[in-house]
Amino acid sequence: TLPPTPIFEAIANHDPTSSAIIHGASGRKFSYGSLLHDIVAGRDRLSALAEGRPLSGERIAFLAENSYDYVVTFLSILSHDAIAVPLAHSHPILELRYILENSEASLFLSTEKFREKAKEVVKDGRHTPKLKILSKVYQGAEEREAIRFNSGTLENGGLMLYTSGTTNRPKGVVLSMSNMTAQARSLVAAWKYSPSDLLLHVLPLHHIHGTINALFVPLMAGSAIEFAYPFNPDTVWKRLAMPFLPSSSPSDAQRRPVTFLTAVPTIYNRLLATHPTLPPKLQSATRKAISPKHLRLNISGSAALPTPIKQAWTSLSGGNVLLERYGMTEVGMALSCGLAFGDRVDGSVGWPLPGVDVRLVDTETNTIIPSSEEFHKDTGKPREGEIQLRGPTIFREYFRNPTATVKEFVDPDDKDTNREKWFKTGDIAVRRSIPGAGQSDQPWARGPMYFILGRLSVDIIKVGGEKVSALEIERELLSLPEISEAAVVGLPDEKWGQKVAAVIVLSQKGNLGKEGGKDWGIMDLRRALKNRLAMHKMPVEVRVVQSIPRNAMGKINKKVLVKDVFG
Ligand code: ATP
Ligand code: MG
Repeated sequence: TLPPTPIFEAIANHDPTSSAIIHGASGRKFSYGSLLHDIVAGRDRLSALAEGRPLSGERIAFLAENSYDYVVTFLSILSHDAIAVPLAHSHPILELRYILENSEASLFLSTEKFREKAKEVVKDGRHTPKLKILSKVYQGAEEREAIRFNSGTLENGGLMLYTSGTTNRPKGVVLSMSNMTAQARSLVAAWKYSPSDLLLHVLPLHHIHGTINALFVPLMAGSAIEFAYPFNPDTVWKRLAMPFLPSSSPSDAQRRPVTFLTAVPTIYNRLLATHPTLPPKLQSATRKAISPKHLRLNISGSAALPTPIKQAWTSLSGGNVLLERYGMTEVGMALSCGLAFGDRVDGSVGWPLPGVDVRLVDTETNTIIPSSEEFHKDTGKPREGEIQLRGPTIFREYFRNPTATVKEFVDPDDKDTNREKWFKTGDIAVRRSIPGAGQSDQPWARGPMYFILGRLSVDIIKVGGEKVSALEIERELLSLPEISEAAVVGLPDEKWGQKVAAVIVLSQKGNLGKEGGKDWGIMDLRRALKNRLAMHKMPVEVRVVQSIPRNAMGKINKKVLVKDVFG
């Protein structure tokens, strides 16, 4: 038996013969029918491991490759009303041990592949749980006659994901089963996942983007998910080309065209960088594969999408415009551009997704900015505020950290009839009406669009009395052909409080000045940015580096960067 929860009911209702999971390298397929049976087998196996002790509310950590095994393990844990804690196999031992101890997991499962690593994780840990190495969590599954749904409810279980750790030590975020269901309903309504979609999965499975958007949601919708991880641009290009190459082997030719791709900006950047190196036949097959005719939806998120990447992808694909959206571990996806190409405006993350309440709050006056007020009445400047969110998708708690949980929520005001608290994202945005956008038949994609200026803690730089957005300056830097990567930070300044500084990586293109750019300095930068940025936004310091360190989601820890680069 299984609990009567939307995810299990959905899996039971999908066509049992259609593919749920595909292993990219081998092409091996696993149907929705076998997934359902294997979840029940996995559920029984977990009961046996727990020797009958109820697992409701307990954390079960697991280490598994991005594969069918991962999916069965994840869903079997959910079926026990337990909290699944997926561990990243790319993480170093100490990081895994931190999560294992921090989550107070009562069980730690690992597949054979990570036997040695898993043993290493629990080796000297004093607070680590029992490790079970399983060749398969669903081992011993025989075909069951019929799956029945019992009458239990899932109130204590869910998913525990750690934030990316971009600003601090990663925080354990608990998403309840109903948070996940609400996130899935919102995204299916907006992005129209369907059984005819095949999603190419190139992301890690310990982060909201890979685990919810690219796995849980398509499973709810009956789409097929093909794992191609760890991301490798050549593998992805070859896979995309398979159905379009006349010379393909029979098994390659059988691969369905990819209809759905969701990734982070650095991944699109690497795909774009490697495309010119492909053999000509592959180049044309892949262009076809990513054209709007075949690739129904291409999404970018987790970090700001640089406009040059967006434009290069549009031109390579013959008109497919990347759809940018904004979300975070604590809230799932909150804002998204629309399905119509005209609703994917450069630099914008779109509109509030269905079921998500959004407001902007002026952080200085602590007042709500009316949505009609895009500009300050007296100064004419855009009205910027913190994004605050409310709704069924918002997380339950930071695990074992009530102080942090309480701190990030604010009470509704007296006039508010909905008594739910608002979650403070710490991200700053402005709203702007864009002529021509927001006219599709998607009812949620209406009104002024949101533009992210960055995190209040690191991206909003105060120069004299003026607030400057690091993201806005980075966007300008990245539009220069000379620059391939950029991070803008605020440094302390005696006169102005803070000053704008830029850390850049030079590209091989453009006018690099003397000695191929080695002597590229602040004057070159300011000259290149002339007429693009107001004087107070101009960087006053620049450092050229070989590369900018990023975490697993392609994000930059700016506090660490400032220490490393500026000392
Ligand atoms: P930590 O909370 O540990 O510092 P993190 O905030 O990076 O790490 P995530 O929850 O993975 O962890 O990321 C959410 C954040 O990513 C958002 O708060 C926002 O700052 C940023 N973000 C997500 N999508 C976008 C986007 N499209 N444009 C700009 N920023 C984005
Ligand atoms: Mg965060």
